[in-house]
Amino acid sequence: MTTQQNQCPKCHSELEWDGQYHCGQCQVHFKKIGFCPDCEAELEKLQACGSASYFCNSCNELKSKSRVKFVFESLA
Ligand SMILES: [Zn+2]
Ligand SMILES: [Zn+2]
Repeated sequence: MTTQQNQCPKCHSELEWDGQYHCGQCQVHFKKIGFCPDCEAELEKLQACGSASYFCNSCNELKSKSRVKFVFESLA
């Protein structure tokens, strides 16, 4: 379980997880993208031992998940 709120950027209802983020209201799937809090570049998600880390290729360092800015991008 996660305490993090995952809201639809369009209707702001809570997103479901069905392998991807899904809004039941909009019937749209979303991809969660992390952006660097320091340089705004899109971060690379690294999966390690069940927990995700975020790496910035511009800064060339790992970013703390608590500082990462997340954006939901709709999938076609
Ligand atoms: Zn929605
Ligand atoms: Zn960066």
